[in-house]
Amino acid sequence: MHDLSSDLFDLLALRDPASMTFDVLEGKTPSQRWRTSEEWDRWLILGADSVLHHPDYPMPLIAEIETYRGCVRYASGGCSFCVEPMKGEPVFRRPAAIIAEVERLHELGVRNFRLEPRPASSHICHTHRRTIHLHLTLMRSKNSSQGYHP
Ligand code: SF4
Repeated sequence: MHDLSSDLFDLLALRDPASMTFDVLEGKTPSQRWRTSEEWDRWLILGADSVLHHPDYPMPLIAEIETYRGCVRYASGGCSFCVEPMKGEPVFRRPAAIIAEVERLHELGVRNFRLEPRPASSHICHTHRRTIHLHLTLMRSKNSSQGYHP
């Protein structure tokens, strides 16, 4: 069957649009790859200033903080309402990197944060228990940091 998309687009990012865009801008041959953990953390800090241009800045802007991608149930397809299994096995960001991103956004004036991804229902899955653990780590960090006053 003819692939119509190749007639319409020069490039299709089937995995990670950010890593493909980066590779194009770097003059590399773009590939269907996921960003590395180092790239993920670095790009989020470098791009944090973009909040200043958001129409909801500073209020009622809510910064969504990526804590992981993927799902422990990726092999079976996971829950019917969730897209995370399409991203493969879970990759978690380091708590220190998440805290650094929140601190940078807070320096810029952001006051509302939401940890992502989260399921589309109130059900708490294995993957999201890890997110809750990260949330608790952030809360402890906030309470022990004199410079952090949300
Ligand atoms: S809700 Fe949780 S367990 Fe279900 S598919 Fe999504 S990440 Fe996986």
